[in-house]
Amino acid sequence: MRPECLNPYFSALADLSGIGPKMLRPFTRLLGRQEGPRVLDLLFHLPSGTVDRRKRPLIAEAPPGETVTLEVKVGQHRPPPAGSRAPYRVQVHDDSGDLTLVFFKADRGYVERLLPPGETRWLSGRIELYDGMRQMAHPERVVDAAGFARLPSVEPVYALVEGLGQGHVRRAMGAALALAGPLPEWQSPGRNGPAPMPFAAALTSIHQPAEPIDATPGGAGWRRLAYDELLAGQIALALVRASNVRGVGRPSHGDGRLTARLRAALPFSLTGAQETALAAIARDIGSGDRMLRLLQGDVGSGKTVVALLSAAIVVEGGRQAALMAPTEILARQHLKTIAPLAAAAGLRVALLTGREKGRVREELLGALRSGAIDIVIGTHALFQESVDFHDLALAIVDEQHRFGVHQRLALASKGEAVDVLVMTATPIPRTLVLTFFGDMDVSELREKPAGRTPIETRAVSSERIGEVVERLGAALREGRRAYWICPLVEESESSDLAAAEARHDELKQHFGDRVGLVHGKMKGAEKDAAMAAFASGQTRLLVATTVVEVGVDVPEASIMVIEHAERFGLAQLHQLRGRVGRGSVASTCLLMYRPPLGEVAKARLQALRDSEDGFYLAEQDLKLRGEGDVLGTRQSGFPGFRVARPELHGDLLEAARAEAARIVAADPDLVTARGQALRALLYVFERDVAVTLLGAG
Ligand code: ADP
Ligand code: MG
Repeated sequence: MRPECLNPYFSALADLSGIGPKMLRPFTRLLGRQEGPRVLDLLFHLPSGTVDRRKRPLIAEAPPGETVTLEVKVGQHRPPPAGSRAPYRVQVHDDSGDLTLVFFKADRGYVERLLPPGETRWLSGRIELYDGMRQMAHPERVVDAAGFARLPSVEPVYALVEGLGQGHVRRAMGAALALAGPLPEWQSPGRNGPAPMPFAAALTSIHQPAEPIDATPGGAGWRRLAYDELLAGQIALALVRASNVRGVGRPSHGDGRLTARLRAALPFSLTGAQETALAAIARDIGSGDRMLRLLQGDVGSGKTVVALLSAAIVVEGGRQAALMAPTEILARQHLKTIAPLAAAAGLRVALLTGREKGRVREELLGALRSGAIDIVIGTHALFQESVDFHDLALAIVDEQHRFGVHQRLALASKGEAVDVLVMTATPIPRTLVLTFFGDMDVSELREKPAGRTPIETRAVSSERIGEVVERLGAALREGRRAYWICPLVEESESSDLAAAEARHDELKQHFGDRVGLVHGKMKGAEKDAAMAAFASGQTRLLVATTVVEVGVDVPEASIMVIEHAERFGLAQLHQLRGRVGRGSVASTCLLMYRPPLGEVAKARLQALRDSEDGFYLAEQDLKLRGEGDVLGTRQSGFPGFRVARPELHGDLLEAARAEAARIVAADPDLVTARGQALRALLYVFERDVAVTLLGAG
C-alpha cells in the first residue's frame, strides 16, 4: 500500500553506509524506535542548534555552554603523570585570554599530533568555567588552516546520546540525505506565490544549512515540514470525521434503569459539570449520528464516573461498552473503582489486558463475543484481532495524551457505528485540541467535586533533602501517606538522574518496611502488589517513577514529593500533583529542584505554586514553551509530532485545517494525482492509518 517513492525513506537505518551493528545501538536509542530506526527517523532528528564558523569569538568573549569555533595558538602540553587517571591538558590562547583543553583517557601520541605547540589551530566545542578557569573538554573538531577551509561554515548541532558524537550524526545524515530522493509534491502550488520548497530540499536545508536560521523551527525548510505534518494530522482527522458521517450511527436508547441504580450506589452526587457532560453524551448516543466527543477535565474532576454512566446507557439498550486505559495500572484501577458500583447496578464488567492469558483469556473473549460481558475495561489489548464483541456501541478512550487517532480508530472498528468518547488526562489548550482532536465535540469539566482541600505547593532546593526527609518522617509517623517521584532514568544513559531504586534503598534505611517502590520496568503483578500495598496502608511511602503520573487514585495519600521537578513539564507536574488532594486531609506538594534553576523552569514551578487550575496551567504551559523551548519535541509532551512545535507553528494550523477540509471535500478518497501524493504525506508522518478509511483507489 505504501507508495514506492517512499522506499528509500523507509529503508532501515542499518542499511546506511557507515552504520554498523555497533553504531546502530546508540542510534536506536537516539531515535527511539526500538523495532529498528529507519532513514526517515534520522532525517526527522532535527538540529537543536548550529555552529556558525563565520563568527569566531575571542576566547574571553565566547559564551560558556555554547558551541563555538575559536582560532587559537597552541601552548604547553601537560600530560598526566604516568599511571595517573588525571586528564591530559593542553594550554591554548589568543590575544584575549587562555583556555585549557582537557582530554580524558587520551592517547598521548594522538594529542601531540593534533595540537603541535606553537601552531595555529581552529577548534569547536563548548567552553565551561571550572573554578573560574575556562576549559573545553574534548573539542569536537581541531583542524589546521587547510582543514578549516574545507569545513562548512555553518553546521547543525544535534541532541545526542552516549556513544554518539556530532560527527557520527552528521555523517549518517549526509548519507540519509543522499538517499532521500524527490517525492511528488503534495502541497498546493501556491496561488501566484512561489512554489513551495520541495520536501527533500527542505530536509537538506535544515541539515546542511547555509545560514543558522535554516536549521531552526523558524527557517523556511522547517516551516514547510511543520506545515506538512500539521496538514497530515488534519487530513487524518478529517478522514476520520468523514468516515464517521458516512457510517450512519445506530442510536442507543437507555431506559434509565441501570444509571439510576448506579447513581444510587454513588457516595456523592454529580457536579453540575458532570451532569452537563453526561446529558450531552446521552444526547449523542441517542442520536442517529455517531458520537465523536472529547471529555476534557482537570485531574480529579471526576471523568471516570461520567464514563461509567455513559457506558451504562448503552448497556441499558442491550449493547456493550469498552473502556481503554493507557496503562495496565490504570486499567486495573478503573476496574477497582467501577466493579463495586457495577455490581450494585447489576452490570457485568471484565478486565482484559496483556496479562490475561490462556483459558482465562479464552473464556473472557467468549463472553465478550456472546454478550455475557457488558463493559470491558482494558489496555490496547482490547483492539487485538482476536477480540470480538457481541455488539460494541461505545468506545471510551482514556487518552491521557498517549493514544492517537490510530488507537481510537482501531477500537471503534470493533463494532458497527461505534460511538467514541475520548477523555484527556489534563486539559489541553484550545489550539492543541484542534491539532489532536480535530473538530470533535468537546465537553469540559471545569468544576471540581466539592470537599477538595487545596494543595499547598512549595519549591525546595535539593540541597535541603535532609530536612525534607526529616519532615516526611514526622508526617509518616502521624499516619500520613506520601509519594516520592523520581524522574525516569533513561536506559543505559549515564545520567545523574536520581534512580528510583537507589532512592528507595536510601529511604528504606530511614523508614524501613513502610517504603514501597513502583516503576515501569516491574512486572505487572509486582506493580499491582506495590500499588495495593500502598492503597491499603501497608506501605506509607511509595517511591515511584512517573508510572503513577496518570490517574492513580489513592485518596489517603496527602504528600507528594517530586525530585528534579525542573526536569518535568508543567502538565506532567500538575498531573503528578493531582495524585494528592483527593481526600479530606490537607495535602502538600514539594517540588524539589536542583539549583541553579533556569528561567523557564523557574516560571514553571511558579505557575504551579500560583494555581491548581489545569485549564489555566495548560495555557501557561503553552506560553512558556513559546518563550524558550528548552525541551526538544520528543520531551515536549505533545506526542505524535516530530517537526511541528504547536507553540511555534500555531499560525500554520488554521491554514492546514482549512486546506485539509478542502482536500477531503474535493477528493474524499484521495484518488487524484495530488491525492496520491497526499497519501505519501500520510505515510511520511505516520498518519497512514487514515489511508485504510479510503475507498478503492
Ligand atoms: P479524573 O479521572 O477526572 O482525574 P476521577 O474520575 O479519578 O478523576 O475522580 C477523582 C475522585 O473524585 C474519585 O475518587 C471519584 O470517586 C471522586 N468523585 C468523582 N465525582 C465526584 C463528585 N461529584 N463528588 C465527589 N467526589 C467525586
Ligand atoms: Mg481518570
